[in-house]
Amino acid sequence: MKKVSELFSGKAKTVYTTEDENRLILHFRNDTSAFDGEKIEQLDRKGMVNNKFNAFIMEKIQQAGVDTHHDKILSDQDSLVKKLDMLPIECVVRNISTGSLCRRLGVEDGVDLTPPTFEFFLKNDELHDPMINEFHINTFGWATESEVDDMKVLTFKVNDILKPLFSNAGLLLVDYKLEFGRYKGKLILGDEFTPDGCRLWDIETRAKMDKDRFRQGLGGVVEAYEEVAHRLGVQLA
Ligand code: 5GP
Repeated sequence: MKKVSELFSGKAKTVYTTEDENRLILHFRNDTSAFDGEKIEQLDRKGMVNNKFNAFIMEKIQQAGVDTHHDKILSDQDSLVKKLDMLPIECVVRNISTGSLCRRLGVEDGVDLTPPTFEFFLKNDELHDPMINEFHINTFGWATESEVDDMKVLTFKVNDILKPLFSNAGLLLVDYKLEFGRYKGKLILGDEFTPDGCRLWDIETRAKMDKDRFRQGLGGVVEAYEEVAHRLGVQLA
């Protein structure tokens, strides 16, 4: 399958149409951004690592029974996906308190959350992705009530699938963000699952192995992603 024309360029991926109207190609770039695009850098190998990491995780999620848009890897930085009608919503599950949860609620960083908690955010950079609730989603028609239920069920199901996968690799899945879209009348997982959109801490040392290394200027960003990939058994070369 070949790229036909550029459909959309996001902060880290460019999306292309293909000869098949139901398929798109995701091109994972080396661009790394934070703070709604205020900080941007090119990091060698990141596009390749994220493309392969994403394919590995999407395949695990699919095998465990949650439908995803992922079809197959095409090259180092390209993957073929189903074309979804994306909802403008980010779904976040948190297993350990950190990040915006601590800033917003003043709770202590690094505390196990029992049960894990869930939040919806509106996907809107200009507004800095504000937190929203189910009433906002209903009032403004961003998703139907059954899609809201599906997003919650599926996002927690992904937690059940991925928490043990990461813990077997010596990593804590601290939190993550998922995005969903409609495909032939069904809500399925879209976008990506990479260390750009989740937090992963080493189980022993609690060292950060995700995009917080970039956000906080800790360095060794791609090296940390490669270490995570290596521990999971993702083939990078
Ligand atoms: P927080 O709300 O604490 O900033 O982020 C919670 C989780 O969702 C983190 O794993 C973070 O990486 C992810 N996340 C939230 N918003 C975004 C976003 O706009 N882009 C990406 N890539 N990840 C996000």
